Amino acid sequence: MACLYAACERAGYNLDFVNGPENDITLYSLNSITGPSLFQEIRSADVITIVGGPHACARWDELTSIADYVVVGEGEFTLPRLLRCIEDDLPLPPGVATSTSFQAADHSVLLDGNPSFSEHKGYIEISRGCPFGCTYCQTPRIFGNKIRHRSIDSIVKLAQSFHDIRFLSPNALAYGTDGIHPEIRHMQALLRELAKMPDKDIFLGTFPGEIRPEFVSEEAVDLIARYCSNTKVHIGAQSGADSTLKKIRRGHTLSDVWNAVDHCVDAGFIPVIDIIVGFPDETDDELLKTVSFCREVSGIGYVHAHRFFSLPGTPLEGRGSRDLIPEVESALGSLALSGRLTGSWNNPEIRFFSKVPK
Ligand code: SF4
Repeated sequence: MACLYAACERAGYNLDFVNGPENDITLYSLNSITGPSLFQEIRSADVITIVGGPHACARWDELTSIADYVVVGEGEFTLPRLLRCIEDDLPLPPGVATSTSFQAADHSVLLDGNPSFSEHKGYIEISRGCPFGCTYCQTPRIFGNKIRHRSIDSIVKLAQSFHDIRFLSPNALAYGTDGIHPEIRHMQALLRELAKMPDKDIFLGTFPGEIRPEFVSEEAVDLIARYCSNTKVHIGAQSGADSTLKKIRRGHTLSDVWNAVDHCVDAGFIPVIDIIVGFPDETDDELLKTVSFCREVSGIGYVHAHRFFSLPGTPLEGRGSRDLIPEVESALGSLALSGRLTGSWNNPEIRFFSKVPK
């Protein structure tokens, strides 16, 4: 929302935040959990409706029967062009689907060409796209499998708006790299520039820019310790079983995770480990291995657990979460009660609704 607000503003369109359809055009960003609860409102809206977001990118062909226009892909360039076309009655731009037409987007967004935010602040997006292909994740399917980066100059300019500087990235330690091979010098150069603003606190390796385990090296954690204010480092592990990591195509091993945990602890950080339970093909044995990993790692850090949720446009689209066996439910419940495990491991919808819809 923040970056689309900025992109539209630059094109001369000011967006307002509304609670329902309002004249003359209302925009909706849809994810796959909350999106369906808005379908009826969009369908019956007596105004022009435009939908976008991760759910719309994957299911645009279904949504053209609900909304007037569907933005398919990145919106910073497409949305202002679409607004202009509606206003001036021009042919629709690429990247827009309707019930009668669709032309795929003809561009990908250059991050430096668009600020992450203007009046309505958002996180500083330093990188976009991901070269990995985890089977449950929409990121490479929406933003592509080539990672793009914002320049240091652009990041420093955006950082001036904050006291606490936080980065949005699929893998914050991959800044400046091809996303696969760690090269810490790029992040070092960025931090060195940001540190010239002494009144700022920098947070690296925390939400919304967690890091992949194989990027966590001794050099990387030393860099975080030197320049940043966080005491915790968030690492995406996703499973405690190597066989599951292989099935979900994570591209790293459990031993990479333990190495990352060791580096964090050695440098004085508390590791916070993301895991997902309930993958469709996960066996009981793999679930129990993940539980045993959670128990062990929660002795030195924290676990943030999620329940698998099938997202459209991913290889696991349409596959439901498998049931958790009682031993797993009870072990995760105990860890949650002890305060060492957080997250929505029993119900993914809790992340998005304050009250879970029936
Ligand atoms: S989960 Fe992370 S590493 Fe895997 S594809 Fe998504 S963004 Fe990339």
